[in-house]
Amino acid sequence: MTPHDQLLELSRNLWWSWNPDALTLFTRLNRNAFEASLNNPIVALKFAKQDTLEDPYVIEQIDSVYRKFRRYMEEPGGEEDGPRVSYFCMEYGLHESMPLYSGGLGILAGDHVKAASDVGLPFTAVGLFIREGYFRQYFDADGVQHDDYPAIDVTNHPVELVTDSEGKAVVVTVHSGEEPIRIRAFRMLVGKSTLYLLDTDFAENPYWIRFLTRRLYQGDRVTRLQQEVILGIGGVRMLRALGIETDVWHMNEGHCAFLSLELLRESLHAGRSFDDACAHVRSRCVFTTHTPVPAGHDRFNPGNFNWIMKTFRGELGLDEHTLLGMGRVDVNDPGEEFTMTVLGLKLSRAANGVSKLNGEVARRQWHHLYSDRPVEDVPIGHITNGIHLPTWASPASRTFLRTNLGSWTNDREKQTTWDRIDDVPDQAIWEYRRKLRKNLIDFVNRKIAQQTLPQTSLLNPRALTIGFARRFATYKRAPLLFNDIERVANLFSKYERSIQVIYAGKAHPADEGGKEFIRTIYELSKRSEFKGRLIFLENYNMEIGRMLVSGCDVWLNNPRRPYEASGTSGQKIALHGGLNLSILDGWWPEGYDGTNGWAIGEDASHEIKDPHIQDTEDAEFLYQVLENDVMPLFNKRGPDGLPSEWIQMIRSSIRSLTYRFSAHRMILDYAHQMYREPVEETV
Ligand SMILES: *Cc1c(COP(=O)(O)O)cnc(C)c1O
Repeated sequence: MTPHDQLLELSRNLWWSWNPDALTLFTRLNRNAFEASLNNPIVALKFAKQDTLEDPYVIEQIDSVYRKFRRYMEEPGGEEDGPRVSYFCMEYGLHESMPLYSGGLGILAGDHVKAASDVGLPFTAVGLFIREGYFRQYFDADGVQHDDYPAIDVTNHPVELVTDSEGKAVVVTVHSGEEPIRIRAFRMLVGKSTLYLLDTDFAENPYWIRFLTRRLYQGDRVTRLQQEVILGIGGVRMLRALGIETDVWHMNEGHCAFLSLELLRESLHAGRSFDDACAHVRSRCVFTTHTPVPAGHDRFNPGNFNWIMKTFRGELGLDEHTLLGMGRVDVNDPGEEFTMTVLGLKLSRAANGVSKLNGEVARRQWHHLYSDRPVEDVPIGHITNGIHLPTWASPASRTFLRTNLGSWTNDREKQTTWDRIDDVPDQAIWEYRRKLRKNLIDFVNRKIAQQTLPQTSLLNPRALTIGFARRFATYKRAPLLFNDIERVANLFSKYERSIQVIYAGKAHPADEGGKEFIRTIYELSKRSEFKGRLIFLENYNMEIGRMLVSGCDVWLNNPRRPYEASGTSGQKIALHGGLNLSILDGWWPEGYDGTNGWAIGEDASHEIKDPHIQDTEDAEFLYQVLENDVMPLFNKRGPDGLPSEWIQMIRSSIRSLTYRFSAHRMILDYAHQMYREPVEETV
């Protein structure tokens, strides 16, 4: 194999996205091309400089990375004998160069696919080929967000059209009403896992159909319904056409739940009675719900549903009433909409929320579907989300961890590795923090020089740096810190040289409230009290996320309880020695132990209060923690100039949070609790 062939193979497996050695190699081929393409190896290889490719040192590096890749692919991960899983999700966040995601759900799904590969689970993922997925964010002079949709060019990405033995695209068909929708697929390799991306954007479809798979969570209800038909029904048909066998079907959030109806159709065609067929499907499906936010649960009005599902209903051989009933809590209520989550719950053998608290909330939320039993017996458990550590660990943190904790990736990220942080001296931990903070500030200064939203940086590499980056959904309350502007201005003036805050995030293009939040923060950033020390970083994506979670000292998370099902960005900061400052929502009630970060307010109350009252109360709690705990502790230095109590909290955070909230722990929980359940045989 020539070095070029090795590079070609490396560039076509997303393994590179969590292996910095590989990324460094591609950077070396052509740094400008690599960076201009959002760190895309295929583009870097296309524009590789010839003399670099001939450099003996580079050739040796290529060979070494390539051998590492082959070892990974061949080495058993321990779960090879597990059931064959087909995992469906609307979005996947695998790398910033592949904008197939819009937020936390996608990032989580991407991490899930990578972790499945690490442990060797036989794993196939299915999604949509969202060519205009994650929009680019830019601003006008008034600080109003605008969106722009650079399209994925298949020749520049690690995707390959799926073809048959004659080289022709494999095409399956579903229907919208009576109109056929033809679907082809692109294959993407993610370590040992395979992701199939379904696509309608080709000449055999009329124009309106070609557009269906282009964008995520946009367009009207009918478009959404059609997308979900493509994903769920089309996805199963595609896997069948490819001969991929499945023991467990995992519906990750309701968008893909139509897959269960296609399995039902197969089962009915095999001659089963309706009840037997439902039981058969149920015995093979599991379902995960990711949000208590009502808008996160797709509901379709019966008129649209009957229209779009007309042909499929004929194939099922069911009447309208029965089919609609599969997505209704009260099957006899003709006014009730068809809810994807209800379908997913009805046709799965097991269901889970994504944190302990979210499990409880989901049991209450869906209790009416199981009104014959007490709320604690609602069959929805929980598996708390976790992050794929190799994806989120910054290069500097890898060096630190390797030097101080040993080989954490080879130890498969086990808990004992992280316990060793207790033996690392204060000095080393503080230097680690300073380095990461400095890297972040350099990065921010470079980025804001290029952005459309004018920002001034007076960021200080020694100041306590607070980060807030996530989707600007209104329940996440981005501007909560500024609820009482005078109060926070006083804090900034008291700690003049030692507090700064960095925000980043996109609002959904139709979410005026979220856009207004960004504008508010932008306006505040121009005020003299905050200027240069309150920064809005434009165009949040996985790269910006990686930088922020590594460099920030404190990660602020203040959603309106209990709407944050899990949240994962705070999990990414623990291994970098950042500390969480968070409402006790999502994963944090499980993570927080009083020594490893801070809670804003009281333990997750289930009571939903008037939003205005809750905001005022939570802001007050936030100010108290900042004034009484966070700021004094950061500034309390010993004779050696080090904040030893703060450093002790860092140790506690790294030790108690990193492994427990890793995707490695998460995938094993799924493998053992959800996937491996014995399949009941039905006749
Ligand atoms: C981690 C991450 C998220 C999820 O963050 P939450 O805290 O769960 O909202 C969203 N977007 C990006 C780019 C991320 O890296």
